[in-house]
Amino acid sequence: MKLVLATSNKGKVKEIQALCGDYEVIPYGEIIEEFEIIEDADTFKENALIKARAVFNAINDDSIIVLADDSGISVDILNGAPGIFSARYGGTNASDKDNLTKLMDAIKEKGVESSPAHYTAAIALVTKESEFCVHGWMYGRAMSHASGTKGFGYDPMFIPLGYEKTLGALDNTIKRNLSHRSKALHLAKIILETL
Ligand code: IMP
Repeated sequence: MKLVLATSNKGKVKEIQALCGDYEVIPYGEIIEEFEIIEDADTFKENALIKARAVFNAINDDSIIVLADDSGISVDILNGAPGIFSARYGGTNASDKDNLTKLMDAIKEKGVESSPAHYTAAIALVTKESEFCVHGWMYGRAMSHASGTKGFGYDPMFIPLGYEKTLGALDNTIKRNLSHRSKALHLAKIILETL
């Protein structure tokens, strides 16, 4: 089955392709020119649906299934920030590194070395006939310092529950088994089997 991904985030594409071996997973940028999608809802779920619908409508092929991931990190000591604003935390055109630095600085400013935190992933599926959305979470600690270069985004500052190293320093297979994205994709695959 062909799955079109409504994302240009290379880290997400890599992880989703690794977790969806049974499907032909194609980033939408390989089919049409990438375009800006305004994610202006206030939940991960609605933003994932906005992305999936926008790509489904732009490709204009009733036979495809579009999968979108909206995700982010929520830090307890920052009252859940950056949450749905994770991609834009360091400013409108912020790089992953800008976002990471800003979040570590915000934790330092609270006078602590780390805080409980969690990642959320909402995965939306849009077809001609139907729309679905499922979620997955990964709990752990957000650190005020970074370590390692694996993963993407905030991974160098996130230690999953039960581990002592960040996702930047742990083997990729550990994230693949634990992550918010892998849990949501597990549920998405159950839906895909029914389509
Ligand atoms: P989105 O593309 O609008 O969903 O933005 C997601 C934001 O959260 C980006 O800044 C990502 O780097 C970050 N993010 C989402 N999932 C992960 C992850 O698995 N690891 C690290 N950062 C993530």
